[in-house]
Amino acid sequence: MNTASTDFRVVIIGAGMSGILSVIKLREMGITNLTVYEKAEKLGGTWRDNNYPGVACDVPSHLYSYSFAPNPDWSHRFSPGAEIQTYLESVAADHAVEDSVIYGVEVTELKHQDGRWRITTDDGRQDQADVVIAATGVLHHPAWPDIAGLHDFVGQLMHTARWDSSVSLEGLRVGIIGTGSSAIQTVPTIVDHVDHLTLFQRTAQWVLPQENPAYTEEERASFRSDPSTAAALHDEISELFANGFSNAVVDANSELLHMIEETCRLNLEESVTDLVLREQLRPDYRAACKRLVISPNFYEGIQKPNASLVTETITEVEPNGVRTVDGQFHELDALIVATGFQVDRFLRPIDVINPDGLHLSEAWAKRPNAYLSVAVPGFPNLFMLNGPNGPVGNFSLIEVAELQFAYFAQLIELLRSGEAEALSPTFEATEAFEGERVEQAKKTVWATGCRSWYLDDRGVPAAWPWTFQKFRQAMKEPDLSHFTLSRNPQPVA
Ligand code: NAP
Repeated sequence: MNTASTDFRVVIIGAGMSGILSVIKLREMGITNLTVYEKAEKLGGTWRDNNYPGVACDVPSHLYSYSFAPNPDWSHRFSPGAEIQTYLESVAADHAVEDSVIYGVEVTELKHQDGRWRITTDDGRQDQADVVIAATGVLHHPAWPDIAGLHDFVGQLMHTARWDSSVSLEGLRVGIIGTGSSAIQTVPTIVDHVDHLTLFQRTAQWVLPQENPAYTEEERASFRSDPSTAAALHDEISELFANGFSNAVVDANSELLHMIEETCRLNLEESVTDLVLREQLRPDYRAACKRLVISPNFYEGIQKPNASLVTETITEVEPNGVRTVDGQFHELDALIVATGFQVDRFLRPIDVINPDGLHLSEAWAKRPNAYLSVAVPGFPNLFMLNGPNGPVGNFSLIEVAELQFAYFAQLIELLRSGEAEALSPTFEATEAFEGERVEQAKKTVWATGCRSWYLDDRGVPAAWPWTFQKFRQAMKEPDLSHFTLSRNPQPVA
């Protein structure tokens, strides 16, 4: 029996931002019997995998930090990806997180049997745990476009999320497919190094201008001498986000959204001088309907003499370039695919099997679903960080993960103390939550008519559709009437 003993064991899948958080917080709870399985050879998740040129976080650095680990040394208001990777490594080192990580091992199966999770890995290991935390990330599995001939391209072919930094683009004719955040960051960073850059745009993007001042040495020294100032800045930006942008996106009629759209429109009109190019770059949907793109220099990059924008649909990729529907052939030495992620995977392809033999892939056959985005009915003692339908958008997913962890830590405590043996949300509560969520999601800006990765197979935004304050409130304390708890038998007096 697992209860109230030091044998209480937790397995975490993934050593990215959420996995690191889980180790630190579990140890604070006194749970030390834990292992993280990480399939890569290094921690960092998104920030390890995404090292394309120009990768950065468009959430302010002092917010994109753990609340318990302020970083006085952020170089800029918005940090480059490599700096975030270094930050994650240093937080992990400060807390000896890697003592609990097994690298290079992929979890392939989770099976709940005889009251515990049985864990199988790709190297044939068997493990067991009372609780499993899926810290597997949202933007994890790259999506490759289904374009004829793509994989027959003979030049360099790379997805932004699997960048090979040993490849030099110097002097090459480079094509980029996509105009999401990844492409918008890549374009201005490489344009001066390549012979010619061709951006293949399927849909234009609204681009919010961004100022990115460096922190001065004095500012950093003051953060260092009094760490509470960095922590205070974290909280201040968090409030600004919670009261501003995050409330605006869930109310399609909000004034702030109209102001954001006006700012984007002015950015386009003041930055792009060629009238034909300006109209090609003008979206025909509302700003923030797609995940808002923020850039200080995309328009500058795409207007360089060696850059061109192609808006004709790609018909096929040939060994030496891209053919578009107007018959034009664009000869290329390298092709960069910036086409985003398979966002409905979560902890799949791991085969997760519940006590009744139901596979998570069956439970999620239509689409992924979870109670409050953290737990799945019928799958006991399994918790997710940044799981389905949670707050996404231009927020700090670190803050989201911290709130989610604090929520389910209270459930883990019930399991650890022996008050409950198995615990999962009820089907009724999950269904009721999902029904309300879907109705509310239809009122958000994400549902105002655009194609985006937020939308599920029905065209419903797969995201938290209420305010961030409401999310914080929901994460304060679990409502146990929404959970099925199987309790240990009481000792007979
Ligand atoms: P994305 O936003 O999903 O964009 C994918 C792009 O590829 C879109 O422009 C899409 O066009 C295009 N595309 C997809 N399939 C295509 C096809 N078959 N033919 C032509 N074009 C195709 O992906 P992403 O840029 O990698 O960004 C994903 C998310 O990662 C972001 O939204 C953001 O949440 C996160 N991210 C964040 C940062 C940051 O600074 N914090 C940076 C990078 C990424 P359509 O628009 O027509 O679908």
